[in-house]
Amino acid sequence: MTSSSGNMAVRIVDLEAQNGPLQEELLEALGRVIRSQSFILGPEVERLETNIASLSETGFAIGVSSGTDALLVSMMALGVGPGDEVVTTPYSFFSTTGSISRLGARPVFVDIDPRTYNIDPNKIEAAMTTRTKAIIPVHLYGQCADMDPILDIARARRVPIIEDAAQAIGAEYKDQRRAGSMGDMGCLSFYPTKNLGAFGDAGMVLTNDAELDERIRMLRVHGAGRRYHHHELGGNFRLDSLQAAVLDVKLKYLGGWTRKRRENAKRYNSLLEKSGLCEEHGIEVPRASYERQNVVDYHIYNQYVIRAPRRDALREYLASKGIGTQVYYPVPLHLQECFRDLGHEVGDFPSAEGASHETLALPVHPELTANQQQTVVKVMGEFYAGQKLQK
Ligand SMILES: *Cc1c(COP(=O)(O)O)cnc(C)c1O
Repeated sequence: MTSSSGNMAVRIVDLEAQNGPLQEELLEALGRVIRSQSFILGPEVERLETNIASLSETGFAIGVSSGTDALLVSMMALGVGPGDEVVTTPYSFFSTTGSISRLGARPVFVDIDPRTYNIDPNKIEAAMTTRTKAIIPVHLYGQCADMDPILDIARARRVPIIEDAAQAIGAEYKDQRRAGSMGDMGCLSFYPTKNLGAFGDAGMVLTNDAELDERIRMLRVHGAGRRYHHHELGGNFRLDSLQAAVLDVKLKYLGGWTRKRRENAKRYNSLLEKSGLCEEHGIEVPRASYERQNVVDYHIYNQYVIRAPRRDALREYLASKGIGTQVYYPVPLHLQECFRDLGHEVGDFPSAEGASHETLALPVHPELTANQQQTVVKVMGEFYAGQKLQK
């Protein structure tokens, strides 16, 4: 596909390029499930749970219906409910906070580190009260939150941590600890655009705690231990066998795809630096390390997110040249209409608000070519050169 300017179209995600080459293997797995007539949970889900637990280095993994339900059922397992508070970031996908509110608890926001976009550990303590029932750090864009100080605070206060690792499967924090394995529970999403994507909705809860594992397995099937004997109120949070079969095929390729994403990120970093866009126009490339530590984390780049002056105009210009980008996220959670009753206003979390005005995700998917990346950076250069002339 070519746009009128002659540039190749560059998509923000390219599922056709990802799934196309795997079609035979995928159809074979789907056929196996169809012939088995076992469509809910079962051996396909168990195999995927074992393989994801091994990848994430956790004792247990429980397949659930989505990343959102992974968050919801994790909080249910902790007994989060009305009167409780859950500390989290205002700069994430909606469901991190939505799940807290759905259980009747109050989300308590802590601003982000403006360089990594993850929750700022230095501000967590001040947000905690005797009602704090859990902390939910999000590993945004595929980079782990700065977990050590968060773990210290949580341990000192005996408050559990649920990691929202929906964007971070296989990411590593210093000492190679895996995303989702550091807190009491970790939540994964297999939404089609995540690094490991299903053919629909799917998710997983990770834990090292046998009791939580058992509890979540029960909550996943309406709180029933034995069929039709309900110990507590759960829900239908089950993972389909078809999705599990698809995911298990794709899982074999995840390591290679992650390496490609990381290579693409590295290439963007150097192309952007060389182009002068950083120095002359204030473009900021993503950071894969925290200031306090001299360790570069294993960022899996679910998104490659830059900070860009005149972001919206840049995005429009790129779109006019056939280049897809996305804004994650244009409205921080504390300013969402549905959370009005929390009483927040503009200015409450300036770093999250700043990010919402300036961040832009460039295409970084594994199928992206070096040529396409050069095109993206070249077109960005055209945009800023034009802007300069207009002044
Ligand atoms: C995708 C995502 C979720 C929700 O996952 P779904 O599978 O879409 O329900 C939760 N948190 C974050 C940070 C996400 O990116």
